[in-house]
Amino acid sequence: MLEHTKHKTCVVIGASHAGVNFAFNLRREGWQGDILVFDSDPEMPYHRPPLSKTYITSEDDSIIDTLFPEQNYKTDAITLNLGKTILAINKHEKSSRC
Ligand SMILES: Cc1cc2nc3c(=O)[nH]c(=O)nc-3n(C[C@H](O)[C@H](O)[C@H](O)COP(=O)(O)OP(=O)(O)OC[C@H]3O[C@@H](n4cnc5c(N)ncnc54)[C@H](O)[C@@H]3O)c2cc1C
Repeated sequence: MLEHTKHKTCVVIGASHAGVNFAFNLRREGWQGDILVFDSDPEMPYHRPPLSKTYITSEDDSIIDTLFPEQNYKTDAITLNLGKTILAINKHEKSSRC
């Protein structure tokens, strides 16, 4: 286990395929600190390819597929901050601004 990560926070900017899978894999690899995922999009992270295929030709708005069920984020203690755009990051201070 990554004991030294216990009091660290990992901030992921972008809750798309790459960002969300990174967050879950980080937890799986043993990251013990907080994991915060930010995205400008207020929706639960979803699969995008169907948007330009099945979704566009369907009347059914409910066919959008989330990447992972909401419960998984809770189980893995991944905090989603949706509808929030990161405007700037400060590498030296290790901070970010929405
Ligand atoms: C309509 C559509 C159809 C697609 N079809 C296919 C397909 O058929 N085959 C295929 O391989 N790929 C397809 N893709 C692309 C694929 O879904 C992924 O979008 C692509 O692979 C890139 O994924 P990604 O996770 O790296 O980032 P992206 O999908 O580019 O997502 C980046 C995320 O970061 C967020 N973000 C960026 N900057 C900030 C910021 N400053 N603050 C907060 N949030 C931020 C954005 O809101 C976004 O959700 C499609 C995409 C779209 C939109």
